[in-house]
Amino acid sequence: MPREIEITGIHLHANATPCFHFCRYCQTAKPKAIPAQFSRYAALIDRFIDWRIASGREDFEICPWYGNSHDYDREVRLGIRRLDERMGDITNVVLLGGVAHRSRKDMAIWLRERQEDGIDTLVASFPGQGKHHDYWNNKKGNYQFFLDTLRTAAAMGMRLQQRVLLIRDSVASLERLFDDLDAIDPPSYTRWSIPLFYSGLSKRLENERLTEQEMAALPLRIRNSLRDDHPHWRSERRWMDYVHDSADQGPERMALSFPISDESLDWAERRSCDEIVAELEARWRAAYRAAPSRQELCEGYGNPQSDKVYMMIGQMERLWFDRYLQENPCTFDIRSTHFH
Ligand code: SF4
Repeated sequence: MPREIEITGIHLHANATPCFHFCRYCQTAKPKAIPAQFSRYAALIDRFIDWRIASGREDFEICPWYGNSHDYDREVRLGIRRLDERMGDITNVVLLGGVAHRSRKDMAIWLRERQEDGIDTLVASFPGQGKHHDYWNNKKGNYQFFLDTLRTAAAMGMRLQQRVLLIRDSVASLERLFDDLDAIDPPSYTRWSIPLFYSGLSKRLENERLTEQEMAALPLRIRNSLRDDHPHWRSERRWMDYVHDSADQGPERMALSFPISDESLDWAERRSCDEIVAELEARWRAAYRAAPSRQELCEGYGNPQSDKVYMMIGQMERLWFDRYLQENPCTFDIRSTHFH
């Protein structure tokens, strides 16, 4: 049966800020920036906010994103804050991932500038401790840089959000990582741990993905740090049960995704928001109707022997789809789907 979809919003994502890291698990697989002039990006987001108000589609989700690294200048920082305010969704966090290495003194200035903009939380992701972190983030000295910056931020009164990636190779180092993080003074942090995503470069790391058994055997301290949604994570085998049990649930609800670059902005600027949504929606509907159904992917390409853990059905399905592609040509516009 062809897939039917229901469009709930639009992701307007640019990758326009330079990332200075080269993580081996990068979700985007494209840490290199793709130019998108900020004023043109912001004008499109403004247009969509105006359109949502004028069309009365308050429930139509608009998700802007300017860059994977937050190492951007004041004009961009203030512009993003203004857009957040218009959308009533102010982000008070800054990501340390992708930020160029600077001295502790220069990082204190960098943090102070962001504090003055209203940022109160620094987010840092750790795929392991010490050399494990540097290996997976593919940048020598990055672990020390992260720890030093977290210490500086804590001393300046910022909250810390520590995100930990569960990777088989480095999971044994996590107790030492937690020791290092617990020693930061003052202790004002949230911490959560998650399995690998299945996207970007992480797709090549299936051998590093923990199984249900391995998750259950984690030391209590690490188990206690699993993100709040962990009761919904499932092994591949259990995702297959989920798909069997949830067949025929009507159209899949999803947001369109429109990657922003100077080139795609040329296209968008020649169209009204109504026209953009209508054209993209038509492409997405056609692509999903031609794509194999979730049930077909599950039946044909799921592995009932696998107890590796995935966080969401969307990621599980991408893996099934990649197995499908090894045996079948792609006969639809994959860029107009979430398989891309
Ligand atoms: S910092 Fe983020 S965008 Fe940059 S390489 Fe790492 S995961 Fe990718």
